Amino acid sequence: MTSSPLPKVLAIDDSELIHRLLRVRLQYEQLELHGALDAAEGIRLAYELRPDVILLDIEMKGMDGFEVLQRLKADVELQDIPVIFISATASMEDRVRALDLGALDFVGKPFEVVELKARVRSALRVQHLVKMLAQKAQVDGLTGLWNRTYFDRRLGQESAEAFRHQRPLALVMCDLDSFKQLNDRFGHPFGDMVLEQFAKVLQGGRTSDVACRYGGEEFGILLPHTGGTEAFEVAERYRRQIEALEWPGHQSLVVTASFGVADVSTAGRPVTADELVSAADTALYRAKTQGRNRVVAATEYGAGAQR
Ligand code: GH3
Ligand code: MG
Ligand code: MG
Ligand code: MG
Repeated sequence: MTSSPLPKVLAIDDSELIHRLLRVRLQYEQLELHGALDAAEGIRLAYELRPDVILLDIEMKGMDGFEVLQRLKADVELQDIPVIFISATASMEDRVRALDLGALDFVGKPFEVVELKARVRSALRVQHLVKMLAQKAQVDGLTGLWNRTYFDRRLGQESAEAFRHQRPLALVMCDLDSFKQLNDRFGHPFGDMVLEQFAKVLQGGRTSDVACRYGGEEFGILLPHTGGTEAFEVAERYRRQIEALEWPGHQSLVVTASFGVADVSTAGRPVTADELVSAADTALYRAKTQGRNRVVAATEYGAGAQR
């Protein structure tokens, strides 16, 4: 296992003194300390560094800590970073306001370093859990592939990028053949094992390929920067690999899958993410009706392309 990088702490405070104090007092802690002397620089560094914890001064010239907090919380990319408020003068009302705005914790100035360290550690634990949950919410529990939620989001991003930069993008949809029958014959635990093995095959592609469990025994693979011909070959390789797998205890068993391939350039006009999925789906459906265990490339894009 590679050792995980040190957690990053970003202190936003307009007092040089506080930064010096933090540097000295936190120097032996297992963390990477960064500092910003004003709100604008703080927000910029929050974007750039993606810190694990932010220490935020309330009283700053110009934009104050409350406003910084509001900006952080309004941004989906930054809103999960725990913020600890630090203030010399904050009244009870200020503390309540800070917590209501989404601050995780509060430390008065001058602070006891032991207490500050404990609060930073506690915030890091919270951040670790938040990250873990966010990751889990996008990963399929059985196969470890990205799940449908992630697939939908990523497909939206990738198709927008492909359109903006006139770049190729392909989508492979695949579905295990006669899987219901396989479950019925060998039981669901065996079926689950087949899904896990199939997922391993799909993970064997380029690191830029994005393999997802679309649902049940259906999978989607996004291939950024990849044209239709190349994607077809990738699908064909997966098809042969799954067909060649050997199944312990069932020597003569052959498991197969069908594939539909679509790519943004074939349509001859900009295609939406939905159109790409439905084109790949239609091709997959044709692979099924033509006898399964095959790859079919999409020819129709748009509203007419339906299963
Ligand atoms: P086709 O070749 O037309 O795709 O036939 P099929 O039997 O694969 O398709 P159908 O949609 O009739 O059945 C899909 C089956 O996949 C039914 C469902 O029980 C099974 N399935 C879906 N998710 C899971 C899972 O997580 N584990 C197991 N073991 N089976 C699953
Ligand atoms: Mg200040
Ligand atoms: Mg199936
Ligand atoms: Mg299916």
